Formats: sequence, C-alpha cells, structure tokens
Amino acid sequence: MSTREYTRCAIIGSGPAGYTAAIYAGRANLNPIEFCGIQPGGQLTQTTDIENFPGYPEGVDGNLMMQDLRKQAERFGADIRDGEITKVDFTQKPYILTTDRGDEIEAETVIIATGSSAKYLGLPDETKYHGRGVSVCATCDGFFYRKKVVAIVGGGDTACEEAIYLSGLASKVYMIVRKDYLRASDVMRQRVMQNEKIEVLFEHNAEGLYGEDGVEGVHLVKRLGEADETHYDLPIDGLFLAIGHNPNSKVFSHAIETDEQGFIKTQGNTPKTNVEGVFAAGDVADNTYRQAVVAAGSGCKAAMEADRYLITINK
Ligand code: NDP
Repeated sequence: MSTREYTRCAIIGSGPAGYTAAIYAGRANLNPIEFCGIQPGGQLTQTTDIENFPGYPEGVDGNLMMQDLRKQAERFGADIRDGEITKVDFTQKPYILTTDRGDEIEAETVIIATGSSAKYLGLPDETKYHGRGVSVCATCDGFFYRKKVVAIVGGGDTACEEAIYLSGLASKVYMIVRKDYLRASDVMRQRVMQNEKIEVLFEHNAEGLYGEDGVEGVHLVKRLGEADETHYDLPIDGLFLAIGHNPNSKVFSHAIETDEQGFIKTQGNTPKTNVEGVFAAGDVADNTYRQAVVAAGSGCKAAMEADRYLITINK
C-alpha cells in the first residue's frame, strides 16, 4: 500500500551536492528526507582515489568518502533512503514527489542534486577496461598517467581543456577528433594546436581497445566511410573520454526550466530555480566545473536557501 508523508525539505540525489545539502539541512533542523537514487553516492563511487578534494593529503577512496558524507548527514538527522523519485508535481504546494514504490512525499522545499552522467562511445571495451585505462575525468585520474602516453576522445572545450591538463603530466597526448576541426572555442583551439605534447588526429574514431591487464592501445579508423578509410592501432596507456555529459534531469524537465541540453537553469550565483522553493545543486545544474568540491559548495548553498525560504513562508 502506498503512503504519503510530509517534509519541510526533500533532497533528491546522493553525490557530494546531495549529502552536503543533507548535512546543512539537518543542522538547520529541517529534518530532511534524502533519496539516494539508483547509484547511491553518485559518480565518485565509480572513480578510484580522489586526490583533489581539500583535506585529504593522501587522497581518499571515492566510495569511502561518500560513506563518510552519508554518516555525517545521518548524524544531523537526515533521513536517507534508497530509491528514486520518478515523478514530481510542482504545480501545488506543498510539492508532491512520487517514489519508484509509488509512495508520495509532500515537500515544502526540494533540492535537486541528481548529477550528470558522462557520455560513453558505446564500445564494449569501455566497460571491459573501465578503471583499468579508461576514464571520463582527466582532473580525477590524469595523475596516474605521469610520463605515459594517453589519448582523449572529443573536440569540444572539455576535451581541449583536459588535453592541456594531461599534457602537463603525460609524455604525449593524442586527441581523437571525429571531424576535421575542433568544435572548441578559438582560444582553446589555439592552445591545443600550439602545445608540442598534443597531437590532434582529425577525422579519427576509436573502434576498440586492446591490452592484457589494462589498456595498451586503441584501434582507430581514419576517415570512416570514405573511399580512403584506414584502420590502424595506436599504442597508448590510457583513454579519456570527453564527449559531453547528460544531466540527470529528465524527471524534472516538464516542471522546471532547463537549458537546451537539459541542465537545470539557476539564478545568478544562487541555486534557485524558476520554481520558488525548488533548488538545484551540483552537476545537474553545472556543465562547466563538474568537480566534487564545487558540487558540495552548491549543496551547502541550496540548503541555506531552503532554510531562508521556509522562514519567509513560516513553515
Ligand atoms: P561538447 O558537446 O561541446 O563537445 C563534445 C565533443 O565530443 C565534440 O567534439 C563532439 O564531436 C565529440 N563527440 C560527441 N559524441 C561523440 C562520439 N560519439 N564520437 C566521437 N566524438 C564525439 O561538450 P563539452 O563537454 O566539451 O562542452 C560542454 C559545454 O561546456 C560547451 O558549451 C563548452 O563550451 C562548455 N565548456 C566550457 C569550458 C570553459 O569555458 N572553460 C570548459 C569546458 C566546457 P562533434 O564536434 O563532431 O559533434
């Protein structure tokens, strides 16, 4: 039998943004209910060590960090639950959230922190070598490729930025770009083309990977579908994917303003959305920085704004 419950603050998502929002909302006595989603802990549970989160001089395991954040939120009274929110109704107050079990939550405020998911090429080898030479985050994993040869797929600003970042660590960086130009901004294009460690392979696609215990090389195809199409292997130690991210915002897109890619629009430097009392934090509203520390900061802001909003409506 389905149930209906009331909360002053519902948090959807359990990455650094969601858990930080839960810590702040808990400490502000909002008694938040947090829904963890299908991947409790979010994207960081898929990486190895996190070495760039302030306060961990030796780095920290992604799973461990998420478990600690969860415990910290629970310590302040957050009611953390498994499961997903599959439907929202922001047309009536309190807002109504429906869980995947059919239960309903009436919420005065809602913090959306559902994150984003890196796009993959869809090659079976990406799964096979995940965490053993395939990465979707140069800032997270680049350090493991010092003085090694890496390749990055993509020709946008992220790929260029990550290629430049990797060039400071690796001995050689190939960019695998499917078109005959880089889509990135002028300044990034110039920086890439002037960087002696970066070689751009235009009109190339990755077809697969090879290697015994980890990635030892990539199967490439040049000028796919053209008369002079060629296939060859390129030895590399790691493959980075930078072909974009998909925000996990589908459930909310009918109810809230998003940009053309689906990232939730927020107002200025705040986590406020176009619906009062509904806030967005972390990667679901950020297509630029995508860092745990930034997401945590925006989760903090969202909880503080939720608290302020509740005061204004006397709830
Ligand atoms: P983009 O969508 O801009 O670029 C994605 C790149 O990946 C394109 O080169 C695209 O190729 C390529 N790609 C997509 N799918 C495939 C595929 N299946 N196989 C091979 N290649 C593929 O994403 P970004 O993450 O780079 O950028 C997102 C947004 O964030 C942009 O607006 C960007 O400007 C912004 N940004 C700004 C930064 C800054 O200002 N410092 C830093 C990072 C991002 P194709 O061109 O052929 O479609």
